[in-house]
This record gives sequence, C-alpha cells and structure tokens, in this order.
Amino acid sequence: MDTNNFTNRHVGITTEESPYMLETVGVSSIDELITQTIPANIRLKEPLDLPEPMTEREFAEHMNELASKNEIFTSYIGMGWYDTICPAPIQRNVLENPVWYTSYTPYQAEVSQGRLEALMNYQTVICELTALPLTNSSLLDEATAAAEAATMLYNSRNRTQVKAGANVLFVDENIFPSTMAVLHTRMSPQGIQIVTGDYRAISFTEEMFGAIVQYPNEKGSVEDYREFVKSANEKEIRVAVGADIMSLVLLTPPGEWGADVVFGSTQRFGTPMFYGGPSAGYLAAKDKYKRHIPGRIIGISKDTYGHTAYRLALQTREQHIKREKATSNICTAQALLASMVGFYAVYHGAEGLKNIANRIHSTAGFLAVELEKLGYKQLNKNFFDTLYIRVPEQISVNALREIALECKVNLRYFDGGEIGISVDETTQLTDIGVLLYIFAGAAGKDYMLEEAIPEKRYIDSLFIRTSEFLQIEVFQKYHTETELMRYITRLGRKDISLAHSMISLGSCTMKLNAASELFPLSRPEFQNIHPYAPEEQVEGYIELIENLSSYLGEITGLKEVSLQPNSGAAGEYAGLRVIRTYLENKGEGHRNIVLLPASAHGSNPASAIQCGYKTVTVKCDENGNIDLTDFREKAEANKENLAAAMITHPSTHGIFEPDIKEMCDIIHACGAQVYMDGANMNAQVGLTNPGVIGADVCHLNLHKTFASPHGGGGPGVGPICVADHLRPFLPSHPVLWGSEENTVSAAPFR
Ligand SMILES: *Cc1c(COP(=O)(O)O)cnc(C)c1O
Repeated sequence: MDTNNFTNRHVGITTEESPYMLETVGVSSIDELITQTIPANIRLKEPLDLPEPMTEREFAEHMNELASKNEIFTSYIGMGWYDTICPAPIQRNVLENPVWYTSYTPYQAEVSQGRLEALMNYQTVICELTALPLTNSSLLDEATAAAEAATMLYNSRNRTQVKAGANVLFVDENIFPSTMAVLHTRMSPQGIQIVTGDYRAISFTEEMFGAIVQYPNEKGSVEDYREFVKSANEKEIRVAVGADIMSLVLLTPPGEWGADVVFGSTQRFGTPMFYGGPSAGYLAAKDKYKRHIPGRIIGISKDTYGHTAYRLALQTREQHIKREKATSNICTAQALLASMVGFYAVYHGAEGLKNIANRIHSTAGFLAVELEKLGYKQLNKNFFDTLYIRVPEQISVNALREIALECKVNLRYFDGGEIGISVDETTQLTDIGVLLYIFAGAAGKDYMLEEAIPEKRYIDSLFIRTSEFLQIEVFQKYHTETELMRYITRLGRKDISLAHSMISLGSCTMKLNAASELFPLSRPEFQNIHPYAPEEQVEGYIELIENLSSYLGEITGLKEVSLQPNSGAAGEYAGLRVIRTYLENKGEGHRNIVLLPASAHGSNPASAIQCGYKTVTVKCDENGNIDLTDFREKAEANKENLAAAMITHPSTHGIFEPDIKEMCDIIHACGAQVYMDGANMNAQVGLTNPGVIGADVCHLNLHKTFASPHGGGGPGVGPICVADHLRPFLPSHPVLWGSEENTVSAAPFR
C-alpha cells in the first residue's frame, strides 16, 4: 500500500473486504453497482475538472502558504466579533479532540450524556447571564438569532393582535448592520413589516407586536431601556434585546428589566474569530415561550434507575415533526462552539468572568480618558467595552488610518468620520500604548503611557449588575487546567463518537474528518482574523474561499456559489430566497407554492414556510420513491402559482430517483425552479450532479458530506450553488459588499 496516498489512509474498506460486500448485494464489481444504482441519463460523461489530489504533506504546505497570505492585525472593529483567549486546555481537549468534534447530534441520550452535560452548562450560562429561565443549546449566529426572536414574538401575539393583523416590528436604528440586514431578509416573506428609528422617539401603535433594541448598542452605548420596555409592555408589545454576553457579566441583565427575549453571540466566550467562521448564537426567553422557542433544548430527566440524566427536551417542536407547521427551520446549530462556551465559563467561574469583564471595561475607560487628553471626544456616556470617538476637525481621519495600518491595527471607521474602538479580553497595556501612539501621532501630540491600567468603573451605577450568577457546583470546581482536563475527559468517555466506533445513525452520511484537514483551524493566521478586516490582510482566506467555491461549483455543476449560509437548513432558506427574488424580478412574484415529496427532510417544508411559501406534498411509494404521476398532477394543478420543487437526491432512503430528469422538466415547464437538497451529495460526487440532472439551486451540508466535522450537532456550513441566471440574487452583505439583499448570516462567509 502506498502510505503516502491520502485515499489509502482514509478509506476504510480493504481489498479483502470489498468482494464480500459486492457478493452480498449481488454484483460483480463496483462499476456494476454504480451502473445499476444511478440512472444512465444522469451520469457525468467527463471526469470532474479538479486539481490533482495532494498528499497530506503537500496539503500541509499548501495551507502554510495560504496562512502566510493572511496578515494578523489587532482588530478593534467590534460589530459582533472580538479577539478572545481560547484557553489552551479547551482548544486542545475540545476543539482539537475527535471525541468532541466528530460526535453526532445527541438524539440517543444514552450515548450522549457527556455532550448533553456540556450543552447544559452552556444553557446555564445563557440563562443566568441574561436572567431569563428558558434557552436552547445554540442558534447559528447573532443575526439569525434576532430573526428567530422576532418570528417567535410574532407567533406569540395575543388574540387582539392577531385579529388586528398586528405585523409591525420596531427595530432600533442602532443595531449591528448585519443584524438589521438579516431581519430585512427574514421578515418580509412572513408579512412582517420593519419600522426603524430612535427608540426614544418611537410611538407605539396598534399594528406593532414587537420591538428590538441592542444593549450595548452598535456604537457601544449602554442605554437605559427600562421606560421603553415598560411602555411597550403596557401595549402588549414584546421586547427582544440583542446583548453582548460578556457585557452581561457587568451590566444589569435585560431579564431583570423586563425583556421578553435576549439574543446575541457567544463568540467572545473563548471562540476564535475565524474570519467570521462559526460561533454560537444564543436566544433566551421567558417561560411562556416554551412552545415557541426554536432549536434544541437540553433538559434534565431521570433514567430508569432514578438517576439524573440529560436528554433533548421538547423534541416535538422540532421541524422534523412539525414540518410545515414548524415556526423555525433550525436543525444543525453550533453545538461544538456552544460546548466550548460552556467549558470557558466552567474554567473561569463567576469570579474569573468578572475579572475578565472588569478588565475589559477598565481598559476601555482608561483609553477613553487618555484619548480625551489628546483632544478626542468620546461620545458614549455609558459604555462597556466600545468607545465612539469624534475626531477633531483639524485631524485627518485618513492620516490616522494610515498610521493605524502601519501599526497593524484595524479600527472601525464610521461614514461620518467617527471612530469605533472595541476593547477585548486580549487588550494589554502595550496595546493601549500602540493606540495612543496612533491617535497622538495623528494629532501631532506627545503622549505618556501610565504604568498600569487602574481598575475602575466608568458607568452609571444604575447599570451595574447586582445579582449573582454561576453559583452552582460545576462552575466552582474546575478552575485549574488539570481539573478541567479531567472533567472534559470524563464527559467525553460517556459519549460515542468516531473515536470510539462507527456511528450508524443519520441519513446524512457521516464522513471523513481527517486530522490533517483540521490542523489549519488551530493556526492563529486562520483564528485571529476579524470578518471585516480589509481585503489586503486576508488574501489567504480569499484564495481559500475562491478555490472552495470553484471546486463546489465543479462538483455540483452549478457554478455560482455562496458560502454565507451556516447550516443546511440556512442554505435551503437562502436558496429559496434567491428563487423568490429571481421570480419577483421576472414579474412573477405571485408564485408562492413549493412542491415537496412526503419523504422530504422536515427542514424543507419549514424553510419553505419561513420563506413565505405554501407547500404541497407529493406522495411517495412504500420504498420512499416519489410517485411520478402524483408529482405531475400536483405540478400541473398548481402550474400558475408554482415557485419551486424541492427534491432530495439521492433520497433520504438512499435511492437515486429514476425519474429525476423528467421531474425537473415538469417543473421547468410550469415556469418554476428546481431546488435540490444536497445533504446526500457525497453519493453523487464525480458520478452525477445537480447541474446535469437539471436543478437550478442546491445546498451542500459540508458538515455531512465534506470534511467539516459534525461537532455533536454543529457547526454547520451550508453553501448554496446556483445556475447562472440566479447569480445576481445570491446573498450580499451590508458591511463588506454594501447591499442588504438576501443577507442570511451575520458574517459574509462562514
Ligand atoms: C441534515 C439535513 C438537512 C438540514 O441540514 P442542517 O445542516 O442540519 O440544517 C436537510 N435535508 C436533509 C436531507 C438532511 O439530511
């Protein structure tokens, strides 16, 4: 065996085993098996045009080269991403440990107690920091969590509001642009109208059902929303608050001043920025939302011996069961990152977290004082970590930016000339020295760096948190590395992952997570990059993204690719949204029906509904094959209003539909688009593809079909590949590409 060859090291079936397997299924060769399985009219005629496979050594060198094209700057840009210290024992024992990153979603509680406990810790962190009793074990990111919150408030309107058709959501103007963009994408198909403005000036109307504000807001200001929430609630308008999880260590949590929902990102609890790559979004709510809260909830139960045990709770709300009645399409979430967040809090405990938050705040305050001495005005009356700086007229922002770039520093530059600085856990006195050098340089002044940063409060006492949190045992016991390492290992032993055995669960084919493929994730050149870093600093990332996009385009036969969606279901939503915009542009916005086989994964109908579509279900036979006659009839019957058909290929039952091409023709003849669910794409690679079959859009679940690991239920990566005519409608991004159209995630790429 050539041990240098990647395939030989990673494909488990040996030459001795394969004859037995072939005999069992009754064929003489693998070619014969493929010929019998995949209809001839959809087989690829040519091999895929992909680069030569690399050895692991060559791949390592390739990644070195890409890494060297990323430049690590110190980023104070903020806007939802902050540099953070991932504690080494968590990086080594969770992020880099196959026991944690290869395990599957904890559907089987008896082999998932470790993961479930880790996720329970995460939920405890969220509930206690927000001061709300109910949460789930993660959402995809802050922006999508905002959309889930808004949908949840909409679905929980009272009778009067439903009767009156209350459909207006107020969103304060000082919310992250990515959150605003995703809200715009997600609300309109549901018939929800967004009104924006200053929360202090808004008058509540009968049409309003909900409101969203951010705490601290996008400029870093900590606002006193108590009156706002009170008067909203008097009108039965419910308030969701986007909150920085680290700030809640220091600030009065929104749950204590009447918020119904709190949502945000937990990235700064030890998850690297990864150029906007995965981090866990959170959502917490009052108890009355228990039937509406999206995602997976871990609950405590008793096992048959009466011992405490964890399990997925309230599973009946999942889209698998509720299908078109589901109020969210979330399936894969950010389990691995949520587990890391839980361990971060376990490792630091309440005292450690307070130290971190206090240090961040004191550092920001100290910087504000020093900048004022240089003539800069800090505009936030109350802040946690983010300063909003007005530059005096005689100082050129461009010159300041030049100096900052020379010092390898990224700041946030507002259109109005103001500058934003978000201090984080990693900011040291020396970093403050560099910042002062930049600001003093631009002002043509000298500065003196103090010897230490005094621990101080720069915020009104009314905002200061007085309630305790994380007092239970697990957050008090594992504050040394050895203790934490043993705790993580003890939990890992309770689970089944690929490190223990094959996982014979999941139609979404479990795949290879080669260690060599995952190594680059540990490099600072990939970890410590802010998603809004200027293009010149991220050439390695851009090359990687372009390469991946072109390979996925070649593999699927649909050449235009967006890497923005962060799960398969998010891909479904993005793909349908692209179809919707395309049809609207053609003047066919009335098309509102999606055809789905009864065998479709539950997220398909749930995504269609989220996209404002109605679903029509097509029958399947006892083998799970789509009934072609019924398919044709339902398509014809809905011809005028048909927007798309969603087909999983090969189906959830593992079958390549013999009539797939004909189905695509039927749909196109009706003037509609074909959406292919690509969760099972690895059965197609190199043999057939969605493009050849005739699909217009497909999503891929890179955490199921390619090298990204499953992580106990996330992170997901759900890129969509589309045909040329749909390219203009692919997801954009307000910060990087200056447009909000079809933005589906907080970060431009995942
Ligand atoms: C897993 C799966 C999905 C949903 O993908 P997520 O990444 O979990 O959101 C959709 N369709 C099929 C067939 C799947 O197996």
